[in-house]
Amino acid sequence: MSMLNKKRVYDLDVADKKVLVRCDFNVPMEDGAITDDRRIVSALETITYLTEHDAKVILMSHLGRPDKKYDPTFSMKPIAKRLSELLKKEVPLAEDENVVGEHAKELVSNMNKGDVILLENVRFVKGETKNDLEFAKALASLADLYVNDAFGTAHRAHSSTAGVAQFLPSAMGFLIEKEVTVMGKALVNPDRPFVAILGGSKVSDKISVIENLLDKVDTLVIGGAMAFTFAKAIGTKVGISKVEEDKVEVAASLLERAKEKGVRLILPLDYHVTTEFSDATESFITDDANIPDGYMGLDIGDKTIQEFEAVLKNAKTVVWNGPMGVFEMDKYAVGTKAVAEILSHLDAVTIVGGGDSTAAVEKLGYADSITHISTGGGASLEFLEGKVLPGIDAISDR
Ligand code: ADP
Ligand code: MG
Repeated sequence: MSMLNKKRVYDLDVADKKVLVRCDFNVPMEDGAITDDRRIVSALETITYLTEHDAKVILMSHLGRPDKKYDPTFSMKPIAKRLSELLKKEVPLAEDENVVGEHAKELVSNMNKGDVILLENVRFVKGETKNDLEFAKALASLADLYVNDAFGTAHRAHSSTAGVAQFLPSAMGFLIEKEVTVMGKALVNPDRPFVAILGGSKVSDKISVIENLLDKVDTLVIGGAMAFTFAKAIGTKVGISKVEEDKVEVAASLLERAKEKGVRLILPLDYHVTTEFSDATESFITDDANIPDGYMGLDIGDKTIQEFEAVLKNAKTVVWNGPMGVFEMDKYAVGTKAVAEILSHLDAVTIVGGGDSTAAVEKLGYADSITHISTGGGASLEFLEGKVLPGIDAISDR
């Protein structure tokens, strides 16, 4: 796969060079304060590598959704402050409203080896999200080299992710490198058996992922609300569970394709059901996969968990995307918790992607025992769909 062939940050000779780095500093904010700085912390590896190798580091990112023009609410000022604290050195912000302006140029021209500066929010510029090449050129004019370390926006061709790489020799930073190598290996040359677990709310969100994975996995395990559309396709009773009526046929054809390809596709054997979308109504676990009239499945049952465990026990590569039930309610988080725990004990490459599944794994405290937690919701889904991500594709080949 071509994305595995891209230059890494250590392939570049960065000493005394100005290196423009696209980071993902799109952190959650409340009243002008950063509420979770993990994205900034995780960018430090690439930044520190560059400063320790005598580069002059020019950082850029987007933050929130400004209306394609300067808006002080979305200024990178708090990010510059947090970076200064974390790096224990001053990281000045170039305060140009058009991102690449006089202040940025002045700061850049005064940089010494090991210095770090930050540009303003790239989404202040109208052309950024259209991959305007004038803006890309202006960004590139500040530097000698370009490093992309923002996986979460790598599936979008923007001036600061794809465009700029047309004008500078480039490489992927450590964060993107990890995403690409771990997920790339799973998709290209996985250790087997390779099991994918898909769940979450909708089949429609993940049809392309299922299609792509059917060519690669040995076993596909399906849970979450998505299971009911498949269940309906094989004639199991689903009660009032969430079904995508217009996707029942697609589900049937995916089941057919799994059979043709010799992929074992496993649906839940039992469910935790109740009468309303609530944790207050009475609930029970069904005897089999049929759900009685008037009941909806909000989680997988115990037999299913045992079955999933038996399948996962021997796996050498596992990709998990989408919770097994309505994990937001403790009562229906049992299946999701169980899968997270099973994964944490496996002697396998384990990869978790998807906004809600990664949140669940982190909240449950299993993050450290998972090989890789993909940081970009949309980007990791497109990666699993087998798409080429433009922000990575644009990077120089090795
Ligand atoms: P991810 O963000 O990990 O890709 P999704 O966004 O596809 O996952 O799905 C997550 C949502 O699916 C959660 O809000 C969860 O409550 C919901 N969900 C899972 N199982 C069920 C179910 N049985 N019935 C209704 N909703 C469900
Ligand atoms: Mg989600």
